[in-house]
Amino acid sequence: MKIGFIGLGNMGRHMARHVVEGGHDLSVFDLSREAGRPLEESGATWAASPAEAARGADIIFTSLPMPANVLEVATGEGGVLSAISPGAVFVDLSTIDPDTAITLDAAVRAAGAHALDSPVSGGTAGAERGDLCLMVGGDRDVFERVAPVLNLIGDAEKLVYCGKIGSGSICKLANNLIGLSTGVILSEAFGMAMKAGVDARTLYDVLTASSGDSAALRGWGTSILKGDFSPGFMVDLAAKDIGLATQLGRSLGLPMEAANLAQQRFIEAQGRGWGREATPAIARIQEERAGIEFRFPEEDPPAD
Ligand code: NAD
Repeated sequence: MKIGFIGLGNMGRHMARHVVEGGHDLSVFDLSREAGRPLEESGATWAASPAEAARGADIIFTSLPMPANVLEVATGEGGVLSAISPGAVFVDLSTIDPDTAITLDAAVRAAGAHALDSPVSGGTAGAERGDLCLMVGGDRDVFERVAPVLNLIGDAEKLVYCGKIGSGSICKLANNLIGLSTGVILSEAFGMAMKAGVDARTLYDVLTASSGDSAALRGWGTSILKGDFSPGFMVDLAAKDIGLATQLGRSLGLPMEAANLAQQRFIEAQGRGWGREATPAIARIQEERAGIEFRFPEEDPPAD
């Protein structure tokens, strides 16, 4: 198939590589020209604009930071919809709110094409391995048509059809609300236990074998607890996700006390100028308060 891919950042560059390695004719675009070079080496073609990437494509993917970026790339000047072919499928892989997915769907339909919202979970490591979970909203027959290409990006066992347009985004906001709030609670639990005298390795071993286990905790085992803050999922993007979740609750007239409290930690991290750092940075706020770094002991064997 001929495929366009727009947004070649921490997630997009890996996902686009799986598509081109899957044997498709891939055209790529990003605001950063440099982001396209490794993909060109893998056989992709550089496009001069989102419209160029979309021209003649059967499927157009976007993986962009904010909901406004997705609408701009779709409907702005030189955008995807100015060149999309009738019957093509626009698959947005970004984390956006369901209202934006519905707005996008209406614009795509007006251009004679189809839209799916397909946010992803599994982080940059999952994107690199190609075993992400994809949660997809939109028409089921359109979803089934593009599923073989989605399975290049994600694990077929973790490809979930969620329902009408926007449903993928709703599931993704629920997922990230859980993961990100758990990170806040983890920082309080580690601060409490370590200040009271238990080392990080002992606590981690107990929690991973107990009811306190979680994917967020496992993530700590390969990042914060090892002192690894390498780039991945930026604080600004995490703050966006938890903000979209609390905003969705508000729009439904549904109080979400704990989510709004957790959101404050991300706002504080942004206020400290850590927006472009990896999300584990938020643990540093509680480390400061506790006067302790949440790290495995020096003699600890490195965790995988
Ligand atoms: P990123 O900031 O690393 O990458 C975004 C890319 O989009 C950048 O290369 C940027 O230059 C490009 N871009 C921005 N505006 C553009 C425009 N108008 N036209 C063309 N390109 C443009 O972000 P990321 O971490 O790759 O995340 C992408 C999306 O995936 C976000 O919505 C994020 O919330 C979601 N997500 C991220 C992760 C993660 O672990 N990083 C995991 C799951 C979901």
